[in-house]
Amino acid sequence: MTRPTIVMGGSKLVVAQELRPLRAKLSLVVPVLNEQDTVGKFISAVQLALSNEPNIDLEFIFVNDGSSDETLAVLLELQLKNPQVCVVDLSRNFGKEAALTAGLDFSTGDAIVPIDVDLQDPPELLSEMIARWRGGFDVVLAQRSSRSSDSILKRWSALAFYRMHNLLSEPEIVENVGDFRLMDRVVVDALRRLPESRRFMKGLFAWVGFRWTVVSYERPARSAGESKFNGWRLWNLALEDMTSFTTAPLRVWTYIGGLIALSSMSYATYLIIRVWVRGIDVPGYASVFVAVAFLGGLQLLGIGVLGEYLGRTYIESKGRPIYIARRVYGRGHPLKESIDDETNILKGLSA
Ligand code: UDP
Ligand code: MG
Repeated sequence: MTRPTIVMGGSKLVVAQELRPLRAKLSLVVPVLNEQDTVGKFISAVQLALSNEPNIDLEFIFVNDGSSDETLAVLLELQLKNPQVCVVDLSRNFGKEAALTAGLDFSTGDAIVPIDVDLQDPPELLSEMIARWRGGFDVVLAQRSSRSSDSILKRWSALAFYRMHNLLSEPEIVENVGDFRLMDRVVVDALRRLPESRRFMKGLFAWVGFRWTVVSYERPARSAGESKFNGWRLWNLALEDMTSFTTAPLRVWTYIGGLIALSSMSYATYLIIRVWVRGIDVPGYASVFVAVAFLGGLQLLGIGVLGEYLGRTYIESKGRPIYIARRVYGRGHPLKESIDDETNILKGLSA
């Protein structure tokens, strides 16, 4: 018998085929915010894409992230018709990262895929991802081969983000890979052990590691509705990443401070020698003003960076839950019994 090879991050087939059950359950974790026009299309597209996978049982975990339109009503209607659908209704908008966390908590599949509802993460890719997973990979990343559906500004800022992250933080994240990926149950269990409440999922996904491979795809435009991420939200997400995965912005001030102290000492020495040789001349007010303003700005910047970290430490120290589920609808999730109890209690009260 030949010894099977294990490849980290390559595209070669790896060991452990026998660990994957022939009949497997696939959980799709779908955060939704004001997506009444896209959910129906999404379910049909997934069912069509997986129609030739008879050994895959599907589970849809929709996390309603505080939608203010008819999304919840549409989801509940779908849930009544389709037992594969589970709806986790959050008590308000907690943001996509928290909604994803909720979805992972409620998923019960052998393999789990966080996926956007707007069909920008094409369900046609799922078959290939499942095949790679069956081949022994724990994580199958979906990489955008082009960003032609994004604006130039978004493309440029995304590139800058990945470069910056990989320059400063460990471990590296693969460029142009979003939340869309397939993860084995062990990976999700590992993720659920990470306690932080401020969660930058792309970073956490990378942090847990495991054997991974990449499949690439063309990212299409949204099926309907509009993007929820404007420039300001993306900037905050990038800040979240920086502060969660590197302390370089904190430490850099030691070096900036050192450099400035050193150059001011040299300048002072130069001034002393100049006075000594040429005597006292009229002082330059402009240069003094520039130096004061520059140093003042630099100090505020440093305090700002400290504040970013301190604020996050403060929030973490409260230990608040990452999200609050108002109610969970549908079968196949671990909290079913407790929710049933709650419903019965409510029924009893109203009887
Ligand atoms: N989303 C969410 N909560 C939010 C923002 C977005 O659950 O606070 C969901 C949204 O419904 C969609 C996914 O996250 O399913 C991706 O959002 P979007 O398509 O707006 O982002 P983009 O693809 O433009 O980056
Ligand atoms: Mg989208």
